[in-house]
Amino acid sequence: MSDMPAVPQGFADLVAPVDPRSAWDLPAPGGMPTTAALEPLVTRVLAPNPSGMTLDGTNTYLVGKPGSGEAVLVDPGPDDPAHLNRVSSALADRDVRCVAVLVTHHHWDHAEAALPWSAHFGVQVAAADPAVIGPQGRVLRPGEQLSLAGTSIGVVPTAGHCWDHLAFRVESGAVLVGDHVLGRGTSVVTHPEGDVVAYLESLRRVYDLGPSALYPGHGPELTEDPVAVLDFYRLHRDFREQQIVALLSDDAAQPVSALVEVIYAAVPRSLWPAAEQSTRAALAKLERQGRVHVALEGVRLVG
Ligand SMILES: [Zn+2]
Repeated sequence: MSDMPAVPQGFADLVAPVDPRSAWDLPAPGGMPTTAALEPLVTRVLAPNPSGMTLDGTNTYLVGKPGSGEAVLVDPGPDDPAHLNRVSSALADRDVRCVAVLVTHHHWDHAEAALPWSAHFGVQVAAADPAVIGPQGRVLRPGEQLSLAGTSIGVVPTAGHCWDHLAFRVESGAVLVGDHVLGRGTSVVTHPEGDVVAYLESLRRVYDLGPSALYPGHGPELTEDPVAVLDFYRLHRDFREQQIVALLSDDAAQPVSALVEVIYAAVPRSLWPAAEQSTRAALAKLERQGRVHVALEGVRLVG
């Protein structure tokens, strides 16, 4: 094809890692139930905000011990009356009241409803970002154990997607991973607030927990082999980095947009701004390692 940019042989020879979920029986996009009891401790309520970035919509989780009469809300999501209705019905159906709101990270699709709904339920918001929790909230510290709704919830630092990202480990061994790991595809490392090195460390941290399941901020729950998905995420980052290096040379600088065009040729253009953030985040890691030079006119290998 004449309009396709020529790519070096080294780039064309790279082999993408296989996503283990391609062999799993996951619901098709748009096919997730609105409310689903994932296990005795955890119920998921899907928000009505599907998009290219939010997949099926934001997943809001209710966590609490059956019989405690209480539940914690994790990632309330968009401040949408239809979503509040869904969440309120799920609480009523389980005969529980909301006792706290936890937020994985400050992005709007997870945090917008935190303050209005905490006022609605008369409870506190807890998160890593002081801007999310409001004047009455509580800043969460990495590694702390929260005793809430008759159960124990571990606060797992998972910076990378963005600086304030947390995951929450529930007593069953399942981990609520927010946007650190998604139910479909891979996550974006935002730039400049995200950090690929931190992201990889966070993947390792969740891996070392030996999660029994991953409950993502978007897309279906990952229960079949969660550790295989974490492996795939690590290999996927390595693959993207190899692709970038294979496209660069040490004499001519290339604009980042040209790298995105080639690496993400098969991805809808509407997702290229996010792809460019992930590419810039990968370049920041390579630059820190002294392997590339990033300037206004473009990127080149350090010769
Ligand atoms: Zn999100």
